Amino acid sequence: MEFVVLGSGTSTGVPSVACECVTCTSTDPRDKRLRTSLLVKSSTTTLVIDTSMDFRQQMLRNMVLDLHGVVFTHHHFDHIGGFDDIRPYNFRSEAPMPVYALQETIGVLKSTFPYAFGLVEPTGPSVPSIAPHVIDTDPFMVGDIELLPIPMGHGQAMRVNGYRIGGMAYCTDTNFIPPSSMDLLKDLDVLIIDGLRWERHPTHFTVSEALNIVSIVRPKIAYLTHIAHQLKHAETEARLPPYVNLAYDNLIFKL
Ligand SMILES: [Zn+2]
Ligand SMILES: [Zn+2]
Ligand SMILES: [Zn+2]
Repeated sequence: MEFVVLGSGTSTGVPSVACECVTCTSTDPRDKRLRTSLLVKSSTTTLVIDTSMDFRQQMLRNMVLDLHGVVFTHHHFDHIGGFDDIRPYNFRSEAPMPVYALQETIGVLKSTFPYAFGLVEPTGPSVPSIAPHVIDTDPFMVGDIELLPIPMGHGQAMRVNGYRIGGMAYCTDTNFIPPSSMDLLKDLDVLIIDGLRWERHPTHFTVSEALNIVSIVRPKIAYLTHIAHQLKHAETEARLPPYVNLAYDNLIFKL
């Protein structure tokens, strides 16, 4: 199984529009962060977790010719904004794209992209064709890849799904992992976890909060993702324990 971090940036991306900070003006390629997303490939199946606002660019950059499913973590726009660019995969496969998401996420996809669900007259001849599957806490398969949902909190009231795939768990956009979900994170090779910045935030783990989770879960290696421009890659890496790293775009690992 191969995993590719397609994007490691927070909702604005890094560099951010209209910012002259040291990270946004950095020449280090690891300080260039598209919006958060993960590609997962087995020998027969390729899936993407979230269609970020940079989905088109991410699929082009990684030459993803065939895509067998889209799995959503939650409905925030930085995670669904590239939804319309599913269309070229419809053209190639001549089939609807299987989409797996929480009921609430499907609801927001419907209100944001009503033309893709036949809810309004299409604005043009080409709209995404999708086969929605509501998922919750039960494991499910996309091709030969099994995903185990990890229910987490994202701020006061919002539920998001992390996902465990074999020895890897992907836990973005969260600042609370309940004990029942912590139990699902045992014996990990790789944990990818939200680590927005050092300063507190109402809906995301800080670096220190992420390190606390890592110290409890004890994966072999951890990567922080959904990174804001307050974190310059090289400076932040120097402050992290050896088995914790900042993710960066096009980080690839195999398990
Ligand atoms: Zn996000
Ligand atoms: Zn900046
Ligand atoms: Zn979010």
